[in-house]
Amino acid sequence: MPATTNSTSPQQWFQHFATRRTSIVDSIRELVEFESPSDNKAALDRLAAVLAQKFTGLGGRVKIHRQKQAGNHVQADFGPSTNKAGSRILLLGHYDTVYPMGTLAAMPCKVAMGKLYGPGVFDMKAGLAFAMEVIAAYRDYGGLPRPVTLLAVSDEECGSDSSRIITEALAQKCAAVFVLEPALGPGGALKTSRKGVGEYKLRVKGVSAHAGLDPEKGANAIHEIAHQISRIASFAQPDRGLTVSTDIIRGGSRVNVIAAEAEAGIDVRITRLRDAATIEKRMRSLRPADFRCSLELTGGLNRPPLERTAAGAKLFAAARRIAAELGHDLAEAAVGGGSDGNFTSALGIPTLDGLGAVGEGAHSPHESIAIADIPWRCALLAGLIAGI
Ligand SMILES: [Zn+2]
Repeated sequence: MPATTNSTSPQQWFQHFATRRTSIVDSIRELVEFESPSDNKAALDRLAAVLAQKFTGLGGRVKIHRQKQAGNHVQADFGPSTNKAGSRILLLGHYDTVYPMGTLAAMPCKVAMGKLYGPGVFDMKAGLAFAMEVIAAYRDYGGLPRPVTLLAVSDEECGSDSSRIITEALAQKCAAVFVLEPALGPGGALKTSRKGVGEYKLRVKGVSAHAGLDPEKGANAIHEIAHQISRIASFAQPDRGLTVSTDIIRGGSRVNVIAAEAEAGIDVRITRLRDAATIEKRMRSLRPADFRCSLELTGGLNRPPLERTAAGAKLFAAARRIAAELGHDLAEAAVGGGSDGNFTSALGIPTLDGLGAVGEGAHSPHESIAIADIPWRCALLAGLIAGI
C-alpha cells in the first residue's frame, strides 16, 4: 500500500479490504444486532449513540441532531475541515429498518452459504459499515484526500420527515452525494434513477341508513369511493413511468347498514419531476359523484424523482471505470423505490445511489448480503472518494 491515498489503486484497495473481510462482517453484524425499527425512538437512539461513538473513534467530528419524536440523526465530518472549492462528499445512509422489535429472535443474524442474513443487513446496515470501513482505511493510509461527511438518519423507511431538512442542508455544501443503499441485483448495479413517491389518503363521508327499510335515505360511502378509485386509476400513464395504485381500502360497519364512511390509501410514483404538478392537480380535482357524499384528500408527493442527470451519469462513469479495474462490469439501473438520494438529486447535487452491499430480499425474511462481494464494494467506494 503506497503512503498517499490519492495514488492507491482500486486493486490495492481491494487487497486491503479482502484481508479485512471477516472484521467487516463482524462490524455489520454488530449493527444488525442493535434492532432499530423506524417507530421505536428508544431503540433508535441506542444505535445512534453507538454510531456516534464509532464515528468519534474514527476521528470524526460528531454532531447528534436530537429529535423529539424520531430517532436522533448522526452526522460526522471527517478529513480536512476546510471545504475548498466545495469538494466535500456526503456519504448518506439510514440506520432504521422496517422490522419490528424482536424480529431478531425469528430472523437471527447469521452466516450461511456465503451470505450474511439479518433484519436490515442489506437495507442498509452493511452500507453504513462499508462507509466506516472506508474511512478507517483512509485514516490508516495517509488521510482522506478531501472532506467527507457521513450522515446516518433514523427515519428513511417512514418518509424521512425529520431528517430531510438536514440531508438537504448538508448536500448543498457537497460536490457529490454517495448513497449507501443496497445495490440492485447480483451484479451490484448502481441506481442512477429512482421514481418519485407520493402517498394520498382519500376519506369519503356518506349518510348511513337501514339498507332494507329506507335505502333511499342513505348515501353509500363505499359506492362513492369505488367510483373515485376507478377515476384515480385512470390518472396512471405507465408509458411515462407514472403509476397510481390504491393499496388500502376500508369502510362500512355492517352489511345491513349503508356505509357512512370509507377511506383509501393511494400510492403514486413518477419518473419525471414535471409530472408532480399534473398528478397533484388531478388528485385535487376529484369531486363526489353523489353530492350527498363529501371527499377529503390528504397527503401528496413525499419524494421527488431522482432523475438521471448529466452530472449523475458522469459519476456513474467514474464508478464504472473503477469497477472495471476490479474486474466488474458495473451496470446502472432505474428503480421504482425512492431513497434520500431523491432529495439531494432534486437539489441539483450529483447523486449516485446503490453503493451499499450486493444482496437480496430487502424488507423480507430472507434479507441477506453476499459476503464475497464485500471487498470490491468497499474498494469501489474508496476509489470514488478520491476519483471524482
Ligand atoms: Zn434503505
